[in-house]
Amino acid sequence: MIVVENMVKAFGGFHAVDGASLTITEGSITGLIGPNGAGKTTLFNVIAGVLQPTSGTVTMQGQDITGLPPHALFHRGLLRTFQIAHEFPSMTCRENLMMVPGSQSGESLWNTWFGRKRIADEERALRARADEVLDFLTVSHLADHKAGQISGGQKKLLELGRTMMVDAKIVFLDEVGAGVNRTLLNTIGDAIIRLNKERGYTFVVIEHDMDFIGRLCDPVICMAEGRVLAQGTLAEIKANEQVIEAYLGT
Ligand code: ADP
Repeated sequence: MIVVENMVKAFGGFHAVDGASLTITEGSITGLIGPNGAGKTTLFNVIAGVLQPTSGTVTMQGQDITGLPPHALFHRGLLRTFQIAHEFPSMTCRENLMMVPGSQSGESLWNTWFGRKRIADEERALRARADEVLDFLTVSHLADHKAGQISGGQKKLLELGRTMMVDAKIVFLDEVGAGVNRTLLNTIGDAIIRLNKERGYTFVVIEHDMDFIGRLCDPVICMAEGRVLAQGTLAEIKANEQVIEAYLGT
């Protein structure tokens, strides 16, 4: 689904990503691991159009998407969630889900004057979809809670929920488990597995929790010093000498 070739991202003279090449298979939940500073987040940002690459290419389903901005990728079904959830704190969880950009009729002036009924219908449909998403994530009880008042883990679920409001194909998740308790982490893991199996989402997940990676991800890709060191099952990765060395060296 995604092929990254010889990716380089330099900040000044420093190569945060230094010739990384990898392939993400359609339908997989791919784990991206590696010591701090390995270049995982930078690589995510380059693929997701948040950062421009210095050199290298990214293709999605055979089409060159190198350097396309996030909104263009969004329309192709490539989404990236952020480590710090960007929720609207004073709006409810349901309203936050309803804020996902789309092709609402309300955006055009014509519809403002003539399409009131259509807008009302669309809002009802959006609301129903948001409620379905909350139900899928087993957090229907949070629908009317203000997003600023829910826990860090619940915000992660909301982030995942946002990807379900549009027809995502591939979702990049950055540190899903950071600061999230075990029960909620399992709920997030269950949602990812179900989205993968039932809706065909491909996932790429950066995560430090190896239990989480082991439960969800195959294959696992390990990066160090801006390059891909190894790819395989978690067991293979753990047994790889270069990987062991990279982790011990930090
Ligand atoms: P990881 O996600 O694997 O921990 P990052 O991609 O966050 O690694 O960072 C890789 C390296 O690039 C680190 O040494 C980091 O300090 C550096 N880096 C990341 N972003 C910037 C930036 N905007 N400017 C300069 N250096 C950066």
